[in-house]
Amino acid sequence: MKYEAVIGLEVHTQVRTQTKIFCGCRNEYGAGPNTNVCPICLGYPGVLPVMNREAVRQTIVAGLACGCEIASYCKWDRKNYYYPDMPKNYQISQFDLPICLGGEVPITGKGFSGEPMRERNIALTRIHLEEDVAKSTHLGRSSGVDFNRAGIPLMEIVSEPDMRTPDEAYAYLNALKQILEYADISDCDMEKGQMRCDVNVSVRPVGQTKLGTKIEIKNLNSFRTAHRALEYEIERQIDVLEEGGSMRQETRRWDDEEEATSVMRTKENAQDYRYFPDPDLMPVEVSAEWLEEVRSSLVETPHARRARFVEQYGITDYDADVLTHEKATGDYFEQAAQGRKKPKAVANWIQTELLGALSKRGIHISDSPVSPQALGELMDLIEAGTVSGKIAKDVFAEMLDTGTSAAAIVKEKGLEQVSDTGAIEGMVDDAIAGNEKAVQEYKDGNGKAIQFLVGHVMKASRGKANPKMVVELLKSRLD
Ligand code: ADP
Ligand code: ZN
Ligand code: MG
Repeated sequence: MKYEAVIGLEVHTQVRTQTKIFCGCRNEYGAGPNTNVCPICLGYPGVLPVMNREAVRQTIVAGLACGCEIASYCKWDRKNYYYPDMPKNYQISQFDLPICLGGEVPITGKGFSGEPMRERNIALTRIHLEEDVAKSTHLGRSSGVDFNRAGIPLMEIVSEPDMRTPDEAYAYLNALKQILEYADISDCDMEKGQMRCDVNVSVRPVGQTKLGTKIEIKNLNSFRTAHRALEYEIERQIDVLEEGGSMRQETRRWDDEEEATSVMRTKENAQDYRYFPDPDLMPVEVSAEWLEEVRSSLVETPHARRARFVEQYGITDYDADVLTHEKATGDYFEQAAQGRKKPKAVANWIQTELLGALSKRGIHISDSPVSPQALGELMDLIEAGTVSGKIAKDVFAEMLDTGTSAAAIVKEKGLEQVSDTGAIEGMVDDAIAGNEKAVQEYKDGNGKAIQFLVGHVMKASRGKANPKMVVELLKSRLD
C-alpha cells in the first residue's frame, strides 16, 4: 500500500519586548540566572499580573503578516499543570479565544534537499499569546531552574495539518522565521530558545480522507532536526501499519544521538489542563482604531517583496528569493540598485561577489565594509566602460579590504579601461606581428585562434584594454 504523511506544526516564538508579559522584569537573553525576576514571574501567591500591551501589539502584527483574522475580543486562560518550571501551577495562555484566527504562510523555493518545490500556502489555525515558563537545566545529578525566561511573552503559531512532506515542513519553518524577522518580532534564534517547534505527524493510505492518529515530537533544536525527525517518524509509522499494528496518540522525544524518537508520554488532552478564564486579568479588546494603527505600521512581507523585486527590477524568481532571504540583503540591494540602469547587474554582483566574500570573512551584510552606495558606484564604472568586469573584481576586493571608493582605487592604480582606438591598435598590431602561427590558424578558418590573440593584447594592456574593442580591431585587421 502507498502511504502519505500529514504534518501540522506548533511553533513557539518569544516576542521581542522591553519587559515581560505580566511584570516589569526585563525581557533579555543571557543575563545571570534568576536576575530578571520578581514576585510575579516567580509565581508568588497574592501578586497580580498586568498585561503588556506591546506583546499583544506584536502578536497582532504577526497575525496581519500571515493574513489572520484579528479577534476584536480575546481573553486569558489558566492552563493548569504541576511542574517546577511554573510554581504557580498554571501557565497564563489563551484557550478558546486566541488573538489571531486562520491565516496562511506561503512557501516557495526549496525544501531541505534543495529540490525546487511547488509553491503553496500552508493554512494556519491560530496564533495565541502566553507566558514562557522557566528554563530547567539538568547537570549530572543536579538540576537548575532559571526564571529569567518565565514570563517572557511567547507566541504560539499553530498550523493546520496541511503539510505532506518533511520538505514542506522545513520550508514552512523557514518562511515563518522570515516573516517574523521581517516584522521585527524576533530573531528566531533556536539556540537561544527564541523559537521552538513541535511537530505533529500521522500517516494514512493514499486516498483516505480521514486523518491518521497523530504523534507529536518534541525536543527539536533546529529546522534540520525537525526535518530529520519527520523523515524518521514517517518511516516508523508506516512500518508499524504495514506490520498490521496501529498508532496510539502519544508524545515522543527526538534523540539527537540515537537519531530516533522514543515515547515520552501518552498524549494528555485539553481536559487534563482544566483550562478556565484567568480571573486576575481583563479580557483584551482590540478596537478598530488600534487595529488600523497597527495595520498602517506594517512592513512589507517577504513574499510581497519577492514578487515586487521580480516586477520592479526585472530579476528572476531565483534572484529575488536569494535577495529577500534576509531583510538586510534586500535592503542592501534596493539601496545599491537605486537609480541604476541595470538593477539586474547589481543583483548578480551581490550574489556572485558580495555575499560569498562576506561569508568568507564572517561578516553580516549589514556590516559590509562596502556600502550599497559604494557598490553602486562600482557598477556605474562598469556600466560606463571605465573598468572591465574583470578589473572590477580586483577593485572590489580592494574595496572590501580598505573601504576605499571604487573611483579612488581605479584612479590611484591607473586601472581605467583603455577604450582609445589608437592605443589598442598598437597592441593589436604587435600581437599580430608576434604570433604568426595563431594568425595563420585563424586565416585557415579556426575562429578560436583569435582568442589567443585577444589574450595577448589583454596581457600587454595588463587587463585594461576594452575586450570588445580588441576583438573588433583584430577582426578588422585579419578578415
Ligand atoms: P492537541 O489538542 O493535541 O494539541 P490539536 O488539534 O490542537 O491537537 O493539533 C495540534 C497540532 O497537530 C496542529 O498543528 C494540527 O495541525 C496537528 N494535527 C492535528 N491532527 C493531526 C493529524 N491527524 N496528523 C497530523 N497532524 C495533526
Ligand atoms: Zn517579573
Ligand atoms: Mg493544541
